[in-house]
Amino acid sequence: MRLIDREEVARRLTYEVCIPIVRQAMIAFSKGETRQLLRSIIPLAQGRMFGVMPGALGERAPFGAKLISIFPDNFEKGIQSHQGLVILFDPDSGAPVCVVHAGEITAIRTAAASAVATDALARPEASRLAILGYGEQALTHARAIAKVRDLASIVVWGRSAERAGAFAARLQAELSLPVAAVADVQAAVAEADIVCTVTTAAEPILRGAWVRPGTHLNLVGSSHAGPVEVDSDLVVASRFIADSREGVLAQGAEFLRAKAAGLIGDDHIAAEIGEVLAGDKPGRRSAEEITVYKSLGHVVQDLASAWALYTDAIAP
Ligand code: NDP
Repeated sequence: MRLIDREEVARRLTYEVCIPIVRQAMIAFSKGETRQLLRSIIPLAQGRMFGVMPGALGERAPFGAKLISIFPDNFEKGIQSHQGLVILFDPDSGAPVCVVHAGEITAIRTAAASAVATDALARPEASRLAILGYGEQALTHARAIAKVRDLASIVVWGRSAERAGAFAARLQAELSLPVAAVADVQAAVAEADIVCTVTTAAEPILRGAWVRPGTHLNLVGSSHAGPVEVDSDLVVASRFIADSREGVLAQGAEFLRAKAAGLIGDDHIAAEIGEVLAGDKPGRRSAEEITVYKSLGHVVQDLASAWALYTDAIAP
């Protein structure tokens, strides 16, 4: 059985490679061509979790599962907070054929999915990116969004000014763009065209009242029913696009909170991103509209990325 380690995933699964893979996977997902169960999450102590995500890329296609631990406290220790395995099975023999480093795939494919959504939903001229958070997803999101829009500047917010400053300096050096750390969220989003929320916050850090018309937001940090990063005003004010309608109705915490408050119904999910990408449903309808892409993350993104690595469909 082949083993693809973290270094190999990081080296070969570039954004140029992963963005089209995830794009195709989400189109297939929304067309009902893929098969998957809702992610199961086993809660552990201290807010830690174990996630089990099985799926198949089609009826006669590769299948497998992602097994992933989520240990938020790892951030303090400098260890990935998401660790695990993507296990691939061969569709002809039924044999398990490959095990891939899931932490690195998750870091890259999640940002690639947000880049796909940003490409579809942000205004074409969008050039100012705000990132809330400075962890692993913050880094990969900056890299990925820079591939789909001609960014002029980035602002970063996080709870620690010192860490935000260090992260901004690192990004600026890597992307050769002006990157500033700002002290409050309102200031971070005031001029932004694109906002990515990539924190472990449990209660809203971003208010709809602070978001200007025309902004596109990728809501990524909350990936199960419970923690919310943005308030219900933002959910209500937005054209709300889900990665999975079924997933958001079961596990999309911001959506579920606004729904529980009686502010929206299930029909507030305007489309799945795969439907927008396929041209079956409209994405952004005006330059003033606020668009939200709610990312929960899906195993088809992991399996498609892992299969491309396994089959050497992408450069060795
Ligand atoms: P990291 O552990 O690398 O970073 C976590 C970030 O959240 C840090 O910037 C941390 O900084 C910040 N943070 C923690 N608590 C709070 C708080 N109360 N308010 C504001 N910021 C806070 O995690 P990742 O970057 O890997 O993941 C970020 C989030 O995205 C996680 O919640 C994760 O579960 C989610 N995720 C979603 C995926 C999807 O597909 N939708 C896939 C992968 C991850 P500090 O503690 O200094 O404030």
